[in-house]
Amino acid sequence: MKLNHDLHVHTYLSACCGEKRRQTPSAAISLAEQMGVQTIGFADHVWANPDISPSDWYRPQDESQISRLRADLATVSTGIRVLVGCEAETIAPGQFGITLQFAETLDFVLLACSHFHMKDLVAQPESNTPRALAEHMLKFFRSGVSSGLATSIAHPLLPCGRLDEFDAAVDSISDAEFTDAFGLAYDHGVAIEITTGFLPADSQRPFSIETPVRFLSLAKRAGCKFTLATDAHSPEAQRRLPELARLTDAVGVTAEDMLLMPGTEGDTV
Ligand SMILES: [Zn+2]
Ligand SMILES: [Zn+2]
Repeated sequence: MKLNHDLHVHTYLSACCGEKRRQTPSAAISLAEQMGVQTIGFADHVWANPDISPSDWYRPQDESQISRLRADLATVSTGIRVLVGCEAETIAPGQFGITLQFAETLDFVLLACSHFHMKDLVAQPESNTPRALAEHMLKFFRSGVSSGLATSIAHPLLPCGRLDEFDAAVDSISDAEFTDAFGLAYDHGVAIEITTGFLPADSQRPFSIETPVRFLSLAKRAGCKFTLATDAHSPEAQRRLPELARLTDAVGVTAEDMLLMPGTEGDTV
């Protein structure tokens, strides 16, 4: 299968982007063109929910992220498809960093349901056991796919800030629990992201590739659709897209398993 879309690209607008000069929308689109990518989706971090006070980190990353991105994109001409989305936050089950009205202004929303490194903002598991982390992640995931906000779940079940516990947490989740959770995603038409976050560099491998392969296979069996993601904050990261073949081949994901984007006719992302 040709890996011809990347639906999770950050730009200089994201506070965590260390490549403010190089990671412009225009440069990211040029690189996508060079790589033969047919659809690029921008997904900067955004907080757009007036009912919940954001953290200091999120506060400057408000709705103006999108107007600034759109202004940049207005100066770019390209033959590839460019989608405007965001990476939104789940701070606890039922509590999200964007509203439905805001989500409706975008082409897609990647909903993060495991940003547990944001300890001042995101609810933490009750204890430090793998099972407690697993149950916590499943609650966030189930809430995220049922929220009506998400197009796809960003780096699903990947416990940010606790990657060395990924194997043990996922091991503690039964196939039946996964099938149930992915069934809920299927019911709500929410896709599952396949991310280079599941492919850490060999020198710092805090978990096994078998861990995401196991649950992505269960997601496929549950009928879920998928989106591809480099979660790039730099051109080097964006170039990693072809590495996702390790995951799509292992899981047996084909073009038919890719998400059909709303508003497109017979055209997957
Ligand atoms: Zn994220
Ligand atoms: Zn991201």
